[in-house]
Amino acid sequence: MLDYFPDDIKSHIIPKTRKDLYYHCLGCAAEHSIEKLLYVCPDCNQVLLIKDKNARSLNKIPGFLWQKIFDFRKMLKIPALKGIYRYHEFIGPSIPLESIVYLGEGHTPVVEANNRLKQAVGLSFFYKNDGQNPSASFKDRGMASALSSIKYLIDQNLVSDVIAICASTGDTSAAAALYASYLGPLIKSAVLLPHKKVTSQQLSQPLGSGAKVFEIPGVFDDCMKIVEQLSSKYSVALLNSKNAWRILGQESYSYEIAQDFEWNMKDKVVVVPIGNAGNITAVMNGFIKFYEANIIDALPKIIGVQSEHANPVYQYYLEPDEAKRKFIPVNTKPSVAQAAMIGNPVSMPRVIKIAKKYNALAGRRHVFFVQVTEQSIMDWQLAANKNGHIACTQGGGCLAGLVQAFDQGIVKNKETAILDATAHAIKFSEFQDLYFKSIIPEEYKINPNPDNINQPSLILPDDPDIIPSQKKRLKGNDFQKFVNDISDKVAKRLNLTLSV
Ligand SMILES: *Cc1c(COP(=O)(O)O)cnc(C)c1O
Ligand SMILES: [Zn+2]
Repeated sequence: MLDYFPDDIKSHIIPKTRKDLYYHCLGCAAEHSIEKLLYVCPDCNQVLLIKDKNARSLNKIPGFLWQKIFDFRKMLKIPALKGIYRYHEFIGPSIPLESIVYLGEGHTPVVEANNRLKQAVGLSFFYKNDGQNPSASFKDRGMASALSSIKYLIDQNLVSDVIAICASTGDTSAAAALYASYLGPLIKSAVLLPHKKVTSQQLSQPLGSGAKVFEIPGVFDDCMKIVEQLSSKYSVALLNSKNAWRILGQESYSYEIAQDFEWNMKDKVVVVPIGNAGNITAVMNGFIKFYEANIIDALPKIIGVQSEHANPVYQYYLEPDEAKRKFIPVNTKPSVAQAAMIGNPVSMPRVIKIAKKYNALAGRRHVFFVQVTEQSIMDWQLAANKNGHIACTQGGGCLAGLVQAFDQGIVKNKETAILDATAHAIKFSEFQDLYFKSIIPEEYKINPNPDNINQPSLILPDDPDIIPSQKKRLKGNDFQKFVNDISDKVAKRLNLTLSV
């Protein structure tokens, strides 16, 4: 009910659509219309970003008023504005509310580390649980945006019978298949996965959503080349983060952090894992946009984390002299941070450009890259989850990266870090299993720490004839004997004392 809202924001509370967005080519700076499916510049084949011709109009509203608008928008019951499009003016002002696809993404919880974990790390920090998105990873933010943009083209009769495709380390395909299935039969989806390089939980997701699933020998980078070829030769919608709409949607992560922390980004550090580098691109870009619109008055420090086994971005920034830096793709080795196991990130040109702008706006180096060992990823993930978190291995990598950055003096202890738990722990439980069973393949270079291992114990009764089963139920004395025997054994294991 619009009457509830204060007069100064009443006219802004429901966003208006404006057609000011265009594709900007990072190679030749050409502008292209967003009214068609486009993933690279037709002139020079470089990656694109979506820009706003009228971004200056955002500055007509003062920062404090934007804050108020976004705070009050939390009260709206309009589904289209319940997710990432709370920030419609920044996420995609060209998309009318009728075309927005909302499946419950965004506004994920920010959970403070308990004292025990803070002490172990030596810093105060929070996890933002992006594993609490509908397909259990942050990819849903980008898919909500990408699929809304396609729905808009369908609604305008600009495209029809869309086949959406993606390559994936597991989570992109889960999100793509989920959002596409919601829009079926207007959109059909097909996903390409590196054979045996996604977890069984991740594989089950696109299958359950009814997508066509293709397993391809090799690693993610090989799958990516194949979908790039498919998208340049055939009429398909590419849903990888090469698709600039993905980036736009994932900027919501930064907007939410700004809002979660009362718009105060001073002394904040945002830690994200890097795979294809779409997410760190979006995170930096989001903070830049809010900073330029005076919604935040400081930029948080950004720390990108890579495993030693997949570290091309880290390697690139090792060279301090910008002019001498040269990007060299790496051959990945097996990583428990499998969703980030990428040797040739598609968004590298975006990262280079935006990190430079970010540092310039901050007036000092403010974007950093660290690498972590596989051992530290697993150990910190397990430590986090033993203290109430639900971090995936990539989220464990963020914590390992924070510890690393603290050791290197990149982060100071007056600062507060926000770590991206990019997916839910259960998607990657296979790695926890291997660790707990001490059967992690050698190439991961992980030695399970006995203190971290947790295994179930099977408790059997002394009398092998008195064991219940589904078919054979125990009765009377037998049952009482069984209950006494087992409860005594559990009590002994737990060192329980008799109550008086
Ligand atoms: C995709 C993904 C990443 C890597 O993000 P990029 O945008 O590819 O850099 C990290 N963690 C999880 C859980 C992911 O699904
Ligand atoms: Zn171009």
